[in-house]
Amino acid sequence: MSDSPAPISVYNTLTRSIGPLVTRVPGEVGVYVCGMTVYDYCHIGHARAMLAFDVIVRHLRHRGYKVRFVRNHTDVDDKIIVRAREQGVLPLDLSARFIAALDEDLLGVGVRPPDIAPKVSDHIGDIVALIGEIVAKGHGYQAENRDVYFAVLTDPEYGKLSGKRLDDLRAGERVAVESTKRHPGDFALWKAWTGDESEPHWPSPWGEGRPGWHIECSAMARHYLGDSFDVHGGGIDLVFPHHENEIAQSECGTGHAYATVWMHNGHLTLDNEKMSKSLGNIRRIRDILAEVPGEALRLMFLETHYRSPLPYSTDRLTSALVALDRLYCAKEVAFGATGEAEPKAMGEPGLDAFDIGRAFSERFYGAMDNDFNTAEAMGQVFDLVRAVNRLGNDRGTRSKGGRILAPARAAFAIIADVLGVGAMEPQAFFDEMKVKRLAAMGRSVEEVEARIAARAAARLAKDWAEADRLRVELDADNIVVMDSPTGSTWRMRVGE
Ligand SMILES: [Zn+2]
Repeated sequence: MSDSPAPISVYNTLTRSIGPLVTRVPGEVGVYVCGMTVYDYCHIGHARAMLAFDVIVRHLRHRGYKVRFVRNHTDVDDKIIVRAREQGVLPLDLSARFIAALDEDLLGVGVRPPDIAPKVSDHIGDIVALIGEIVAKGHGYQAENRDVYFAVLTDPEYGKLSGKRLDDLRAGERVAVESTKRHPGDFALWKAWTGDESEPHWPSPWGEGRPGWHIECSAMARHYLGDSFDVHGGGIDLVFPHHENEIAQSECGTGHAYATVWMHNGHLTLDNEKMSKSLGNIRRIRDILAEVPGEALRLMFLETHYRSPLPYSTDRLTSALVALDRLYCAKEVAFGATGEAEPKAMGEPGLDAFDIGRAFSERFYGAMDNDFNTAEAMGQVFDLVRAVNRLGNDRGTRSKGGRILAPARAAFAIIADVLGVGAMEPQAFFDEMKVKRLAAMGRSVEEVEARIAARAAARLAKDWAEADRLRVELDADNIVVMDSPTGSTWRMRVGE
């Protein structure tokens, strides 16, 4: 890592082009990412957005930037109120419970916590102040139903992020459902309290009520990053209306440009359909974590560029698990080797492992500095993994290959820091695999070890037929037994 940060190129949804990341203060980046509305467990579609920005922030830091990373929790929302009413609990108690569950799930997939995780309920004062400025400048109005709306016609730049035109919004209008709005594109900044005590409500110059959805991000980003800041991110589905509305209300309210760069991650798709509740194809992060180590999900996501749609399937997750298993085998080879042999002393595999290891950082950074191209970076990772495992097939590597594999060890450290894969000790990974894969098959480690002990006893008694029968049986369950003079060890085999 050099002293001054490396140049990074990013795709900006606002300009629809890739260009150099130019920040307000050189070397420092303020990042705001829209978090989740917390009323249920997080599914893998959410995980994709959280993970995409986790890797983006990790890489910026790795390349020398000082990052201030803010990701909010939406804890005041109609969906939360409805769910809390169904369960007979208070909305803020419900959201607090799911914020804790979310933190646990994200930790399970190696997503590092943001520097600041603000909640709407803690920022009502900032929200009311910003709405006040918007209204005072003539960009907002209180309607007959006492809700306060943003007046889209007062913003000549409205639509600049999504490319939507106000005329199209009007053309799409059917029956005037909300007749109190001046334009169908107007959106709520403040929602009047209905008097129902189960709704959270706060005082404001427009009466008791709660914030509309969009205003919270504008107010919290401003509180922690200032009127203008560097990078705003979120899922592609947030471009319109959420981010379009954030820009409109922030720029009209503060009189300053809002975020410079807008970054959006693509959808997660299941069988080429967007995952949604109505399709009944939701997979929760915790369901996946019960079956595979969290890094397998990371690896599966990282094989696709963050802006591309990502097709999820059980087969793709299994392939990712197989790939991760190979990565840990390589890591075990690289960190288990000692000795000072020259690369050429171990033939072509020695030369390859040494050369690919030495070239790794330049190639890897080349991919990642170019709009965080993790798909290409994973290609570099698996070139390295293949070369190291090939050298590992040579029995002499353990006692001779230490020096040859030094560049590979440095490469694994970069991979773990930036991508968050291969971050565990190999043995801890193999142990986690055993527990989770067996649990997914309805079996346990204890049961497998009892069968391995029975086989050892059969071998001791020279009952070869029984020992063989047990080995075949274990093999059918994807348990590979490795015999050595000091006893037997075992591993889970993944994939076919
Ligand atoms: Zn937001």
